[in-house]
Amino acid sequence: MSLSIAGLSKTYANGVKALDDVSLDLPVGMFGLLGPNGAGKSTLMRTLATLQEADTGTATLGAIDVLRDKEEVRRTLGYLPQEFGLSPRARAHDLLDTFAILKGITARTERRDLCEALLRKTNLWEHRRKRVGGFSGGMKRRFGIAVALLGDPKLIIVDEPTAGLDPAERSRFHNLLSELGSDAVVLLSTHIVEDVANLCEQVAILDQGRIQLVGTPLELCDQLGPRLFSKTMSMEERRALPESMPVISTWLRYGQHEVRVVADAAPDGFEAAQATLEDVYFAVTAGRWAGVA
Ligand code: ADP
Repeated sequence: MSLSIAGLSKTYANGVKALDDVSLDLPVGMFGLLGPNGAGKSTLMRTLATLQEADTGTATLGAIDVLRDKEEVRRTLGYLPQEFGLSPRARAHDLLDTFAILKGITARTERRDLCEALLRKTNLWEHRRKRVGGFSGGMKRRFGIAVALLGDPKLIIVDEPTAGLDPAERSRFHNLLSELGSDAVVLLSTHIVEDVANLCEQVAILDQGRIQLVGTPLELCDQLGPRLFSKTMSMEERRALPESMPVISTWLRYGQHEVRVVADAAPDGFEAAQATLEDVYFAVTAGRWAGVA
């Protein structure tokens, strides 16, 4: 089972081309989607989640035509949006049970066992009688996973999962997510590049509606490595750098500026740097990937 997207395009009524001929193959496992605000990530995810229409293109999940057989997709889809309206007064167990009914799991015993298994898996069993309105950000996120996992989905779409989570909750959430990828296609969209590097076997960078780059995080870092250089300097030196310097990012570290550039050879005073997926991301979105691979 894999998800194959080919030639997907979408222009909104206001003329914005949110998706421009997007093609991607997502095997079983975790696939990361990165891109700046406005890149088209939500449009892509909402289209795959059958929540909106594309203008042209195809998407197939195994034998399912994702864009046409919407009912069938919904039966095998787990969708975890950034925020989802939970009835704040509902108790966790009752709410999960309701979602299970909506998912078509009508047999009472099956539903009871499933809800218990999911609440245990997401560490919410002891909180099952609490109202979800009182849940912390991390608990809400984990509850979202429980909902997304109802019905044993083969396609799981997760939008910006760790916003607002403290480090412990984030790590717990990551561990849960990494379990999902074992027998489903998981598409994870986030602004946190490091999360994608840690969790995903493959990553795509979307910018201005186009897929700019696809690969494994390691492969992409290896490609960039030989062309990445850095130098730590004062603010004055940073300001004095010529416009032509191919800077991809500047980091403040202990009051100094670490400037990273992509070039054929080290500019004066710069040294070879260890490439991270973040460098890959900045190189692509700064338009400096050309020439790397
Ligand atoms: P991302 O999730 O990467 O931030 P989106 O898919 O939300 O990107 O948006 C892509 C582009 O489409 C943006 O320029 C956005 O303003 C525009 N857009 C998104 N939704 C709509 C809409 N319903 N109507 C018009 N333009 C939209």
